[in-house]
Amino acid sequence: METALPKTELLCPQCGGELHPDEGQIFLDCPYCGSTVFIDKSRVIFHWYLAPTLDEAKAGGALRRWMAGNETVKDLDQKSTVTQVSFEYFPVWYLKRRQPNGKEEILIELSAATSVSELRHIRLLAGDLRKYDSSLDAQSQPPSVPLPTALGWLAERGVPQGEIIEQFLVHIPLYTFKYVYKGQIFTAIVEAGTGSVFANIYPAKAEIPYRTIGCITALAYIVLAFLPLAGAALSGSSGTGLGLAGCIGIGILIAPLLFGIAVWIAAKV
Ligand SMILES: [Zn+2]
Repeated sequence: METALPKTELLCPQCGGELHPDEGQIFLDCPYCGSTVFIDKSRVIFHWYLAPTLDEAKAGGALRRWMAGNETVKDLDQKSTVTQVSFEYFPVWYLKRRQPNGKEEILIELSAATSVSELRHIRLLAGDLRKYDSSLDAQSQPPSVPLPTALGWLAERGVPQGEIIEQFLVHIPLYTFKYVYKGQIFTAIVEAGTGSVFANIYPAKAEIPYRTIGCITALAYIVLAFLPLAGAALSGSSGTGLGLAGCIGIGILIAPLLFGIAVWIAAKV
């Protein structure tokens, strides 16, 4: 007679107590020690969250400071309009790696899809992490990238799975801002624990105007350098002198002009 297949035993990684999640339940509190865990198929993983320190207004302030900074196009903070703000706890895999030489590092892999993959560069300090609380469920996105998939990505980047010594699921508080600049919609994320801003695509400072003025300057002086030669060709040695005088004179005259244009571009872009 066939007996029911033995259920996979789910044990609390903290106290070893047997866990009995309800059907479909993925977030769980250990009834024995109170650890918060995440059930990834048959794996039990510690579950933490980063407590937000920024409210929506402060996150908006962090966004404006980033927009006013050097990475983005000039006056983006004044020339853009925020059209949408949303808040959620976003899941990431927090993985501690120990290399054979004993060096340890924290690696982050995203546990759900996002248009802002830059989020992978988020810095999380273990000391800032708290036990996950089920009261956050309504605002938490469940992980959709299984841990083995994330470990597979790491292996592709040369991190052997055996070097991952600890793994946690961490929900991080994020404000997602949509803003419009020159008729185009952009997305920026403000991590509400530290105020770090993440964006894949944003109106960046243009480099073309700088290169253009650089080329014009070089060209102008090359042309000037030919003036003495042209003078010599036209009227011999007196022409050379005249050409040389013209070269120096015009060179001195246009220098502040070209410098002025460069300053004007720097102020504009
Ligand atoms: Zn426990």
